[in-house]
Amino acid sequence: MATQQDAVTRANFDDVILPIYAPAEFIPVKGKGSRVWDQQGKEYVDFAGGIAVTALGHCHPALVETLKTQGETLWHTSNVFTNEPALRLARKLIDATFAERVVFMNSGTEANETAFKLARFYASTRHSPYKTKIIAFHNAFHGRSLFTVSVGGQPKYSDGFGPKPADIIHVPFNDLHAVKAVMDDHTCAVVVEPIQGEGGVTAATPDFLKGLRELCDQHNALLVFDEVQCGMGRSGELFAYMHYGVTPDILTSAKALGGGFPISAMLTTHDIASVFHAGSHGSTYGGNPLACAVAGTAFDIINTPEVLSGVNEKRQLFVKHLQQIGEKFDLFSDIRGMGLLIGAELKPHYKGRARDFLYAAADEGVMVLNAGPDVMRFVPSLIIDAQDIEEGMKRFADAVAKVVNG
Ligand SMILES: *Cc1c(COP(=O)(O)O)cnc(C)c1O
Repeated sequence: MATQQDAVTRANFDDVILPIYAPAEFIPVKGKGSRVWDQQGKEYVDFAGGIAVTALGHCHPALVETLKTQGETLWHTSNVFTNEPALRLARKLIDATFAERVVFMNSGTEANETAFKLARFYASTRHSPYKTKIIAFHNAFHGRSLFTVSVGGQPKYSDGFGPKPADIIHVPFNDLHAVKAVMDDHTCAVVVEPIQGEGGVTAATPDFLKGLRELCDQHNALLVFDEVQCGMGRSGELFAYMHYGVTPDILTSAKALGGGFPISAMLTTHDIASVFHAGSHGSTYGGNPLACAVAGTAFDIINTPEVLSGVNEKRQLFVKHLQQIGEKFDLFSDIRGMGLLIGAELKPHYKGRARDFLYAAADEGVMVLNAGPDVMRFVPSLIIDAQDIEEGMKRFADAVAKVVNG
């Protein structure tokens, strides 16, 4: 019989896991801060952060301490009972944002699913059962359930799964005229990432978000901000909406919210929340004490001036290095994003090759990401230190040299 001690290698992946991923050839086994080690003991600098998740690096002592303490106290009770960590975390989120009510789920997908169901329910309860149209954007990413892939703007993720939820319309991002052309009183919600992450690291323009707010107000539609990737400090503010001075009606958070422990949240106002009643929606694990305790500790660390103001200092270091690498190798046509959500678009002669640079970077000992085929993406820990940035960028430059020189 197999035991936990049996040796496993990357080769086992194809024999036991669904082929929905093509993971790198090595297996990480240990992490500390912004460094990770694989089975062979090789060390990596982590600029990927588990896809914008480990915002305080790996095994942050305060998170480990909370995990251990709560782990020895109470893990799970279901939502038949509430629990102290969930109530404390909800209070923190409410005190720090526009929100008056919060609900916890386990993933970005579920937080968005909750948001879209709430928007539809609110419109049909308060206005009309025909007010169901959702306006969303090309290249948007909102998760992988059938509803959330359908609101997402990348048909390759939603095609082939049978009939899609109806009355969802996609228009170009940052194009207010396109929104105006389809906006009407049957619209229940406009759903947008203030900074598109998966779709290529593109920030909304301030005029665009302000315009969406006005259109939603004119047509009694809800403005939903998906801050699953750009929220929780990544932009340099606690949430990206704070940069723009545009307040949504519903906001979703996940990824960095738990610092690596699965948890998500949907934030809204008392008025909107009040259309739901006991039984309208739910989740077995959502708001469990273990996740909420860890997220509470992560929140207390991230929501401090030291961490938030550090984000932009670190961004400047990243951008400086990327500009140097870009010039040296004639590599990037644009370096963009906000805070520590950084995108570097490849020049036309390297188009489609983001994955080659990613794999070469891992070979050189630095984990980076792509955002589509043409954009390199950097979403490190918000507290990564200057030394790790220097070392990781040195390795990234070596990787680029290898790809460029064939
Ligand atoms: C990652 C992501 C999601 C999905 O989150 P999961 O936790 O993978 O379900 C949704 N929206 C945005 C903007 C994301 O970046």
